[in-house]
Amino acid sequence: MIMKSSARPRILVVDDEPMNVELLQAYLQLDYDVLSAHNGQDALEIVFREVPDIVLLDVMMPGINGYQVCEQLKSSERTQFIPVVLVTALSGREDRLKGIEAGADDFLTKPVDRLELKMRVRSLLRIKDLHDNLIRERDQAQNYLDVAAVMLLLIDREQKIRLINKRGLEILGYEESEVLGKDFFFDFIPESNVPGMKNYFLNALESSEKTIDYYECPVVTKQDGQRMISWYSKSLTDENGKTSGVLFSGQDITIRKRAEEKLRKQTRAMEASIDGMAIMDENSIYTYVNDAHARIFGYENPDELIGKKWDILYKDPEIKKLKKEILPEFRTRGKWKGELLGKKKDGTLFYQEVSLTALDKGLISVVRDVSKRKEVEARLNQYASQLKNSNELKDLFTDILRHDLLNPAGVVKGFTDVLLNDETDDRKKYKLQLINSNVSRLIEMIESAARFARLEGMDELEFKSMDLAAIIRNVAADFEPQLFDKNIKLDMNISGSHPAMLNPLIDGVFINFISNAIKYGPSDSTVTVTVEDLGDEWKVMVSDLGEGISDKDKKLIFNRFQRLTEKKKAVKGSGLGLAIAKRIVELHGGNIGVDDNPAGKGSMFWATVKKA
Ligand code: ADP
Repeated sequence: MIMKSSARPRILVVDDEPMNVELLQAYLQLDYDVLSAHNGQDALEIVFREVPDIVLLDVMMPGINGYQVCEQLKSSERTQFIPVVLVTALSGREDRLKGIEAGADDFLTKPVDRLELKMRVRSLLRIKDLHDNLIRERDQAQNYLDVAAVMLLLIDREQKIRLINKRGLEILGYEESEVLGKDFFFDFIPESNVPGMKNYFLNALESSEKTIDYYECPVVTKQDGQRMISWYSKSLTDENGKTSGVLFSGQDITIRKRAEEKLRKQTRAMEASIDGMAIMDENSIYTYVNDAHARIFGYENPDELIGKKWDILYKDPEIKKLKKEILPEFRTRGKWKGELLGKKKDGTLFYQEVSLTALDKGLISVVRDVSKRKEVEARLNQYASQLKNSNELKDLFTDILRHDLLNPAGVVKGFTDVLLNDETDDRKKYKLQLINSNVSRLIEMIESAARFARLEGMDELEFKSMDLAAIIRNVAADFEPQLFDKNIKLDMNISGSHPAMLNPLIDGVFINFISNAIKYGPSDSTVTVTVEDLGDEWKVMVSDLGEGISDKDKKLIFNRFQRLTEKKKAVKGSGLGLAIAKRIVELHGGNIGVDDNPAGKGSMFWATVKKA
């Protein structure tokens, strides 16, 4: 910007003849400050240094002549607008043309007339003054543009950038000289956005002056990055009323856009959540409620809750609890989590899991309806107590079996024995024997059932180290009468002691195996008992030479009351023996099973127990 340094205009007089300089000085010094130079070189130096308001320039000088000085002044940005008056002795047309070509503003012919000089100088100064004012205004306008917080760009009809302000340069990252005259669309708009932005530009160019349209489009910066800009445009017209270009103002909204995108993503996640989410402001008013939150509380849409206070979703005593205990705790710790009874729109209450988290202002609450879970829990509790009842029933049943059924059956058996002893009539004796054997069976079944029920209810047994071989030998000794009856030989392949961790109940397993082997084995055969060392365990095997058990029945027979049909009639039994044996072995932590007898015929029942 050009500033005036003094109130009086300054005039530089250049002439190689000192007398001429003095004369002009004399004419002018009353009204102006007069500077002087005696050759072209000095003249240029003074003009550049002092920037006078007018230069009166002699043409014919040795060295750099007047035309050359004038040309140089007119080609420099700093001095181009200083009026130059060529003072010449020549008045030929040729010389004038040369002067005009060199950029001279006016001419005076020597000898200089005083009045003419004064008039020329005054009018040139007036023009200069007007011009200076224009420049000042232009600079002022440029200043305004530069302080603007938005980017301002003037794009001409050829799409070239004609003007850009400071903010624009900051956003683009370029110097002014790198931008002016460049094709706006080609150099500064991402390729994919060019058609849209061009369209926007052409619309602005064609539409009337007043329309200001809004458009979003990124620009490419010098660092090869992109900034998102929101644009406003306004077409500009020249003095003939023709549209000369478009003035764009652009605001950098990159950060705002990113924040908006983040917020949108978060909101989408909240909208999609199956949990209820709500945001409350510092006055406990809902400012955001997602669909799930509204649904959980029985509202059709979130708008019904936005703007309302939280306590419409609760009821005393929950409201009191929240105010007195929960919210104070939440305020000190910044979060809270727990179960509350929520109130639906229709007034019904439901269990919900709630977590509260403090925000800058207000809080966010996440709510989950847990009434279903609560229902299941309640049902499970009920079931557990029923189960307890059923165990109690089972105990009662076991007691009834043992005391109330076994006793009368024992009495019947006792009297039958007495009667049998005394009876001599064979027909009556036969009937009494039938009663006797059936009542024996009844007693056996009651005992088995009671044992089984007792074992079922047990979770664990106490063990101590016992000699397995001794237990088996004891059991075998009790079967001597039955072995004798069917003439069966019992082969015992057990020598020495076999210490194992056992409970006395274990003998029930071997009683069952050996009695079955005798029951289902043929007369005049052999039953073999063997103990094998498996390392950590002993395996006890009882084999017979009976009909054996088919593969499909091998698993079934360990179930309760499972008896194989063909044998039912021939052999008496309860079908509980193997189920009891299995339970005893399980309680010992061992295994039980049946295989075909490796000897070729019959079956081999086995059980494993842990060594001591
Ligand atoms: P039961 O009192 O009927 O003998 P168990 O539970 O001891 O009851 O046996 C169940 C069924 O397994 C028997 O009814 C019988 O069909 C079959 N069974 C058991 N041991 C043998 C065996 N050694 N040989 C053939 N079948 C057997």
